[in-house]
Amino acid sequence: MTEVSATLALELEAVPCPLCGGRDIATLGWLGDVSLGVPGTFPLARCRGCGLLHQNPRVRDDDLPRAYPDNYPPHTRDAEMPRMLRRAGTAVRWAAIFTLKSYFTVNVSILEGQRIVRHGVYRVIRHPSYTGLLLRYLGFGLAFANWLSAALIFLPLCAATLYRIRVEEVALRERFGEEYLSYARATKRLIPGVY
Ligand SMILES: [Zn+2]
Repeated sequence: MTEVSATLALELEAVPCPLCGGRDIATLGWLGDVSLGVPGTFPLARCRGCGLLHQNPRVRDDDLPRAYPDNYPPHTRDAEMPRMLRRAGTAVRWAAIFTLKSYFTVNVSILEGQRIVRHGVYRVIRHPSYTGLLLRYLGFGLAFANWLSAALIFLPLCAATLYRIRVEEVALRERFGEEYLSYARATKRLIPGVY
């Protein structure tokens, strides 16, 4: 986690129990802030009326912004780059669907009379609609200012997509034989010139 701007100890104020409004509150102990490293210790309290465990006395409302770093994940706004990735992904995917027109299917299937589409985006990559999806997933993942969430969202979807591409290419090789193999030699799967 990132360091917090607060260097001065935060001011605490005693409040009534936030659940029942009772004032009979027992302090159980003083704890440090583990996740953000806010300086100082904070009291864990238990309301004798309703049993609610809470922080009391607690950080004053107007001091709260000092207790959180600017990039605290729930408070970060969607950054420009993830938003651009999602838009680019949507655009690539629509270009693919538009090029395929009636050949586009959601399930792996080869339609009667279908031919290999080699124009438009398909001239450079064989699976542009997946390129689009993966860009979107990456954009969603990166919208959480946190690499672990980005990886947890993106990697499983990426693995599933690569698996689906394998299944599709086997079906296409069986159906179109040498024609598909030569198409595959002339193009990349997802990223032009790379993969
Ligand atoms: Zn209470």
